[in-house]
Amino acid sequence: MRYVSTRGGGEPQRFTDTLLEGLAPDGGLFVPESQERVTEEELAAMRTMNYRDLAFALVSRFMDDLPGADLRALIDRTYTAEVFRDKDITPLRTLEPGLHLLGLANGPTLAFKDLAMQLLGGLFEYVLAKRGDALNILGATSGDTGSAAEYAMRGRRGIRVFMLSPHQRMSPFQTAQMFSLTDPNIFNIAVRGVFDDCQDIVKAVSGDPHFKSAYRIGTINSINWARVAAQVVYYFRGYFAATGFAKDANSKSVDFAVPSGNFGNIFAGYVARRMGLPIRRLIVATNENNVLDEFFRTGRYRARKSSEVVETSSPSMDISKASNFERYVYDLVGRDGNKVADLWDRLEAQGMFDLAGTEYFSRVPESGFVSGTSTHRDRLDTIRRVWREYGVMIDTHTADGVKVGLDYRSAGVPLLCLETALPAKFDAAIREALGRDPERPAGYENIETLPQCFVVMDADLQAIKAYIAERCRA
Ligand SMILES: *Cc1c(COP(=O)(O)O)cnc(C)c1O
Repeated sequence: MRYVSTRGGGEPQRFTDTLLEGLAPDGGLFVPESQERVTEEELAAMRTMNYRDLAFALVSRFMDDLPGADLRALIDRTYTAEVFRDKDITPLRTLEPGLHLLGLANGPTLAFKDLAMQLLGGLFEYVLAKRGDALNILGATSGDTGSAAEYAMRGRRGIRVFMLSPHQRMSPFQTAQMFSLTDPNIFNIAVRGVFDDCQDIVKAVSGDPHFKSAYRIGTINSINWARVAAQVVYYFRGYFAATGFAKDANSKSVDFAVPSGNFGNIFAGYVARRMGLPIRRLIVATNENNVLDEFFRTGRYRARKSSEVVETSSPSMDISKASNFERYVYDLVGRDGNKVADLWDRLEAQGMFDLAGTEYFSRVPESGFVSGTSTHRDRLDTIRRVWREYGVMIDTHTADGVKVGLDYRSAGVPLLCLETALPAKFDAAIREALGRDPERPAGYENIETLPQCFVVMDADLQAIKAYIAERCRA
């Protein structure tokens, strides 16, 4: 399996050569050169597998230049009941017949990003050790991505993490989650400023090739193919859990509803469907930052300016553009890299492109996507409704998915709503909806009282570069 750029440039590369790269050299995203399919027999065999066996069966297809035994060992160390606090890793809860919640948020940071990030941490450490190389990851976060990255990379050989966050602007829980890490390879930098100031510093450093190569700076982002591959696994697992783990279970179609921002999670569902998993609809749920819903309804893809991004009560979906979307458009335009390059040039120049009325847009229905927008009011109503009717507490992001999922629900087709975070992370919204505090999982009760390890710095590029350089020389 080799990987090519969505913009058609460069030579095909092996998986491990793309792993530490981020973007392809022409600015595109890496995608597999050919499309994977699973046969009926393979699907039947996968039904009876546990999470780790299934993960290996699927992920190894995309990472076939890694020795199988090494990948197997990495997967076995990653998807454990200790790390994901459940022997099923992604347990399915049935709210009523035909309506399910797929629990993706039982990892260390209580959000679905752990499922891919924990494997990515192992893969990075493995490939760096093979090459005798090191990597210093620089990132900016307003919460979720940063903590998932830190928990994935903590204590790993050959890796340091420098994470910028806006000083005193994250929730106390999120702050405590990140800053209570005391591993010597994790550096929390609280920047006096807002998230965009942090982001600008990361961009400025990334635009300095000399500094980047001298200090082996890399980034962690949602566009790494390894994350997509790791996420394909729980679509299969969720499908089997809803339709039966027995080898001769009926292969009927299901729908998935997915709270979406950067289009990384639901894109993995699309890959699973393309591989042959019987998924009827992929229901894209956005919040008020509805870049994706606008596209699926109208054919117009319009990136927002950062000043247009609304702060919502499902903050991990507050995006200005959907990074992984380019991979889907690549398929829509018939895997024509030049066409994608044209569209992204247009996006760069005009802030949008429009596929309405084209043959490309007419292919959307056959790819399974439908979409909807959920608002703050919808989230609160949905949290109340699920609590009242099923006695289950869901977080704001999950609520966006459940709301839009129910709007599209059809009789006789099981609906799986992805639970992307636990309510404990977003207690203010839970108090607003239910007038009570969310429960905290064991081990997180007093997280705010743990000692915190961080430095506060001005949004000063030179000072932050000097801080990083000094730590990297040590
Ligand atoms: C990141 C995130 C999302 C959005 O996922 P995408 O892959 O960016 O579409 C949804 N919910 C939660 C809790 C998240 O952390």
